[in-house]
Amino acid sequence: MIGPRLPLLFLDVDGPLIPFGASPQQLPGGYPTYGPGRRQPRGAGSNPLISRIDPAHGPRLSALPCALVWATTWMSDANDCVAPWLGLPELPVVSWPEPSDEDGAGRVHWKTRVLVDWAAGRPFAWVDDEITDADRTFVAAHHPGRALLHHVDARRGLVEADFATLGQWLRTGVPARGDH
Ligand SMILES: [Mg+2]
Repeated sequence: MIGPRLPLLFLDVDGPLIPFGASPQQLPGGYPTYGPGRRQPRGAGSNPLISRIDPAHGPRLSALPCALVWATTWMSDANDCVAPWLGLPELPVVSWPEPSDEDGAGRVHWKTRVLVDWAAGRPFAWVDDEITDADRTFVAAHHPGRALLHHVDARRGLVEADFATLGQWLRTGVPARGDH
């Protein structure tokens, strides 16, 4: 039963759900794709990378005790294309300000302030391939609730260990060893 006060889970698409960037040495066969021979993801014609999303992630995400929120440049396409492919309902979508030239290497990510504002003190996990320690420092200083900034390796996307870490933190509020 999803209650209104469960922690939020801000979910990025490119990287966590759509892996990219592995070298041919790391992934000799290339990325697996899903869809051909089964149902075809909606929007796969215009967004062929959707077929890289493992639809089994949908039930894994649904099983987490949290309120899912899209935190991605896919914006409304996340609900139009990605959510149906994963079997997820329409989810809230974080909207972003215009990019500013404040952002850069070693700086706080352009999403971070927006997510802290959006959460408004409510506990949140954030799953993204671009999280750095600068973001952890910023959130620790500006967000009064608990938070887990969970970095995912874009080359492999979400794996079972990521879901275990998220589930542990969402259920207990305690990070798994080695995570922040
Ligand atoms: Mg990303």
